[in-house]
Amino acid sequence: MTAYQKTSGKVIVAVDGHAASGKGTMARSLAEALNLAYLDTGSLYRAVGVAVLRAGGDPARDADAVRAAESLDLTKFSRDDLRSEAAGGAASTVAAIPGVRAALLEFQRRFAYQPPQNKAGAVLDGRDIGTVICPDADVKIFVTASLEARVERRIKELRAGGQAVIDARVRDDMIARDARDSGRSVAPMVAAADAWVLDTTTLDAGQVLAQAKAFIARKLSR
Ligand code: C5P
Repeated sequence: MTAYQKTSGKVIVAVDGHAASGKGTMARSLAEALNLAYLDTGSLYRAVGVAVLRAGGDPARDADAVRAAESLDLTKFSRDDLRSEAAGGAASTVAAIPGVRAALLEFQRRFAYQPPQNKAGAVLDGRDIGTVICPDADVKIFVTASLEARVERRIKELRAGGQAVIDARVRDDMIARDARDSGRSVAPMVAAADAWVLDTTTLDAGQVLAQAKAFIARKLSR
């Protein structure tokens, strides 16, 4: 279990959910609105995946992935390096390796329990924040949306970033990623029993943020 204790008065918000469900945008906006620290934990797994590919390794090979996770230097990756579909695929492959998850655990917990700049708390988004990283989070939100809505959003995002996109390929990659993330034996993507499930299929980013803020206000006032 965690070596960290929640400091009274500090708030931990755990946001988990599917790829392209809108959870990243929502979590970042929430952190800004509530003046909390924000950690996109997917970027850690993406950085490990990209580091393995750069070193000419295989993201599915334990030794290559664990070595990259243990020597991770986040200053070596730009946002563009991490946001590609190749980075997302490599991320979900290395993320199934227990040694990789173990190597990234401490960093995530320290961020949650001792947020930087002495902020009043932290928002972490990922796949296992409410279940494994911070099971005692004050607020847990699991964000999802239909496969079609998520594929459409991802295609738009990739096109906006100037990437050439084959629609069927994005759909196939999304299905494969969902299956890997939900089916892995270590820290599978699953809503915590005490998480609030938010389906964003028919909502825009503003509506998602408003609903999340209202839920947090209710939850913290109890
Ligand atoms: O959220 P994002 O799409 O950037 O995450 C990339 C991949 O990293 C996910 O598909 C998932 O396999 C992995 N991940 C994870 N646990 C987290 C965050 C991300 O396994 N907490």
